[in-house]
Amino acid sequence: MIVVMKQSATKAQIANVTARIERLGCQVHISEGEERTIIGIIGNGRPLEREPIERMAGVEHTVPILRPFKLASREFHPRDTIVSVNGVKVGGKQVVVMAGPCAVESHDQLLETARAVKEAGAQVLRGGAFKPRTSPYSFQGLGEEGLRLLAEAREETGLPVVTEVMDSQMVPLVITYADILQIGARNMQNYALLHAVGEAQRPVLLKRGMMSTIEELLMAAEYILSHGNDRIILCERGIRTFEQYTRNTLDISAVPLLKQLSHLPVVVDPSHSTGKWALVEPVSRAAVAAGADGLIVEVHPHPEKALSDGAQSLKPARFAALMRGLRPVAEAVGRTL
Ligand code: PEP
Ligand code: MN
Repeated sequence: MIVVMKQSATKAQIANVTARIERLGCQVHISEGEERTIIGIIGNGRPLEREPIERMAGVEHTVPILRPFKLASREFHPRDTIVSVNGVKVGGKQVVVMAGPCAVESHDQLLETARAVKEAGAQVLRGGAFKPRTSPYSFQGLGEEGLRLLAEAREETGLPVVTEVMDSQMVPLVITYADILQIGARNMQNYALLHAVGEAQRPVLLKRGMMSTIEELLMAAEYILSHGNDRIILCERGIRTFEQYTRNTLDISAVPLLKQLSHLPVVVDPSHSTGKWALVEPVSRAAVAAGADGLIVEVHPHPEKALSDGAQSLKPARFAALMRGLRPVAEAVGRTL
């Protein structure tokens, strides 16, 4: 349930309501809006009576939240959440493009890519140092050395860095280098990891599991929120279907649906959702037209030599062309790029 306080509610009245809810054994999340305060109640399983709370001074009304996700829901937080990362705002008017290689492979590969994507207008640098590969014989990433290279690329270009953390025990190491912690599709329901990044107080890019429903994605976000971290960016990266021509199937309706159900920003990964570089540009335009707050795109200076995901990686010149083509689409839907 959420308690909507009157615009005129005083601090003391808000404190009274909070104290009463806590006495009932429930958890309280306060959201102070520009106009009014909303108090979110996370119940303890027992039914909660609305009338006694509605009679309290300063309370305007209460709204039951029937969905299983509470803190992630639009009802709880009607305005869009904007996640700020070193001055880059994800979820505002500007569409934020994150770009870089699938995996950090070497100093020159990363720096060359970072300079090129920055020049083309990307605002965040992506790059995996710890790679969740299907085969144990595939390149697993450079590990901490990869993180160091990402930090060096940030130093030089000023781009904040998003990189995957695969294990809860690795969170302390990864947060010493990364600006955004990426939870990969394969780990979307790794609850120990969600708990750890919830406590990390660092923005999180939460990718939808390849076999997960929208509700499961929002419940994964709820784990992070319930551990005190509300800086979450949701990512639609395609789901597994019967289709064989693409690596995954981009669920384009997930974008407006997530925006309706939740206040959290939504980005689309056109690279993993298609698996084919030639589809990345048109799918990116579709994502922006559908209301995505950003994109995360794989770029490699020599895709044919890439140690992972070369087939879906754009060369820098193609990425620059993608950015040019996106601008009019962003403007057509009232956004900037
Ligand atoms: C990635 O971003 O490189 C990645 C492994 O993505 P996903 O977890 O969506 O497969
Ligand atoms: Mn990849």
